[in-house]
Amino acid sequence: MFIESFKVESPNVKYTENEIHSVYDYETTEVVHENRNGTYQWIVKPKSVKYDFITDTRVPKLGVMLVGWGGNNGSTLTAGVIANKEGISWATKDKVQQANYFGSLTQASSIRVGSYNGEEIYAPFKSLLPMVNPDDVVFGGWDISDMNLADAMARARVLDIDLQKQLRPYMENMIPLPGIYDPDFIAANQGSRANSVIKGTKKEQVDHIIKDMREFKEKNKVDKLVVLWTANTERYSNVIVGLNDTMENLLASVEKDESEISPSTLYAIACVLEGIPFINGSPQNTFVPGLIELAISKNCLIGGDDFKSGQTKMKSVLVDFLVGAGIKPTSIVSYNHLGNNDGMNLSAPQTFRSKEISKSNVVDDMVASNGILFEPGEHPDHVVVIKYVPYVADSKRAMDEYTSEIFMGGRNTIVMHNTCEDSLLAAPIILDLVLLAELSTRIQFKAEGEGKFHSFHPVATILSYLTKAPLVPPGTPVVNALSKQRAMLENILRACVGLAPENNMIMEYK
Ligand code: NAD
Repeated sequence: MFIESFKVESPNVKYTENEIHSVYDYETTEVVHENRNGTYQWIVKPKSVKYDFITDTRVPKLGVMLVGWGGNNGSTLTAGVIANKEGISWATKDKVQQANYFGSLTQASSIRVGSYNGEEIYAPFKSLLPMVNPDDVVFGGWDISDMNLADAMARARVLDIDLQKQLRPYMENMIPLPGIYDPDFIAANQGSRANSVIKGTKKEQVDHIIKDMREFKEKNKVDKLVVLWTANTERYSNVIVGLNDTMENLLASVEKDESEISPSTLYAIACVLEGIPFINGSPQNTFVPGLIELAISKNCLIGGDDFKSGQTKMKSVLVDFLVGAGIKPTSIVSYNHLGNNDGMNLSAPQTFRSKEISKSNVVDDMVASNGILFEPGEHPDHVVVIKYVPYVADSKRAMDEYTSEIFMGGRNTIVMHNTCEDSLLAAPIILDLVLLAELSTRIQFKAEGEGKFHSFHPVATILSYLTKAPLVPPGTPVVNALSKQRAMLENILRACVGLAPENNMIMEYK
């Protein structure tokens, strides 16, 4: 059975006018390697830590500024939100299609809240805590191309033509602000697109972005802003001692107009200096060490990297299944071909390399989790190929071959072929990223013994379900397995309303 909303009744949960306060027992373990009677043993001790969570329930008016607003993802997301808000339907060759948010964790997935009369009860994911309604978000942003969003939507060739016609009046007056363009960081084939760029030194460019954000907030009367990079994949920046390795060096390098500071890092610096969350949806190393240090010192949320939309999402499910089933994946080969502007940009070796890196580490945690299948340091062969094929446009093809060793030396080969519009996968993920980033800034907590409430670590691991190469604070384990990432997010939000983690034991029926 599906219910729309619920309220938790518990001595550990208090709802006040503006807050939900929950006291929560976090059940975990402590692992030690200790000498017991002359031999070293691994000892696992269950432990319970009391946490207090406070969630501010006042949902702000949210502005979202996209870097690369006029791209396929930016225009598709903007179009999709307008279509949902306006209740637009359109004729396809199959049926009359209604706007929806399929593919969005927050808007279209559900959680189990318990059972009632022998039936499982589910509720919308978004009913866990008060979240911004996508209909109320004000979108804006930058692009190095001055094309208006209606024309950008047509250029993207993603949405049905009848829908595009209805959306055009809403979108033709939306024009991206000029962007920071540095041809050294993206493919040379993007040069003809760059007709709307911010001139000046790196320092002047950062100041320009800050001014843009302040004006956007003021003009649209939004309470909060989140900025997300969905612009072209850049090449990696070189991390150089004295240049971008520390906060001071990075800021000094901006002042000195050093060439190795990428546009994405400049936008991120502007955001962090303004206390505005910045999310990186592409694979490049925007978050150089100096920027991470800056974000930590300003306690400003940063999250990334690279949307986990299609092939990698499948990989982080399939390899988790194989390794979890005691099957040994030995070779993973992933081919992609796509014909959109992202594909054209990735046809340059240095931008492809960023994508290759981001796609390559995704099975590491699963492989490391099973020492019966893999020797320490052993990895399956893992190869990623991306080719640009203009004809298929945004309709990306992903072909994957997984070869595994099974019982008694047998071989098992699984082949997958996935075809779909890349931007229709990415747009709902962008929405989730900005809504969850905003929500996470309204949550404060403290463990027993900690004096003061604090927010999550500025490096937002809570968003890792949505990213291909989750950015984590130094010294933190990276989790790629999709089911673990989803459980982490859901269970933290459940804790905020005093609900135990979903443990799937269903003891009531045993
Ligand atoms: P796109 O090329 O259609 O859009 C990118 C836009 O960014 C373009 O309009 C371009 O003019 C603009 N741009 C480039 N540099 C800029 C800058 N410095 N400042 C402002 N604007 C700039 O690409 P897309 O298909 O929308 O994808 C966007 C990004 O998302 C890519 O990096 C892609 O790798 C990444 N991504 C996409 C998916 C997916 O499923 N679609 C998944 C993971 C990552």
